[in-house]
Amino acid sequence: MIDWNIQSRAHACQACEQRFADKQAYHTVLVDHRHEYQRLDLCEKCWTEKHGGATGEPKGFVSHWQGVYLAPPLAPPEPIQKETAETLLRKLVEQDDPHYHAASYILAVMLERKRLLKVKEQLRREGRRIFVYEHPKTGDLFTIPDPDLQLTQLEEVQRQVAQLMEHGPSPVSAASPAAETSAEPIIEPQATAQRAAD
Ligand SMILES: [Zn+2]
Repeated sequence: MIDWNIQSRAHACQACEQRFADKQAYHTVLVDHRHEYQRLDLCEKCWTEKHGGATGEPKGFVSHWQGVYLAPPLAPPEPIQKETAETLLRKLVEQDDPHYHAASYILAVMLERKRLLKVKEQLRREGRRIFVYEHPKTGDLFTIPDPDLQLTQLEEVQRQVAQLMEHGPSPVSAASPAAETSAEPIIEPQATAQRAAD
């Protein structure tokens, strides 16, 4: 019984383990291995040495074809994000929630590296450093307090930023007008308990 499972193309020659280069020609052979067709991707040299090559006598395989290896894109596609660094920073700066100050700072640094923001000023207010970033295209300014991040906090803040990118920031607080428009039903545990007792 042949198991028609999917065998993806290897990224390296399965004989000499040398990685395939982009656009490199490679050979695929199917070998009958314990009644299963096993795929082997080989470089030109190994194909010639192990399986006879194109001119030699074919040996030890049931099928052969040639392909051209195409390198996968360098980075895996990013997960679909609700926010971009910029839209998120705008929201966080508007909210001015101290809980998000560190995240705002990280986003500003990210955008500065991408040259989407420029530091225009570094000010001091009440012993605290404040960065003033300008968005060169729109001229918008972002005032970001230095969160005095410790290296040990960095990972946590980066996680928070990733979460915010995916889900967006939560409303400032329950007292904000945004909470009134919330469609979430509020279940009161007491009422439920009484009904159960009836
Ligand atoms: Zn090889």
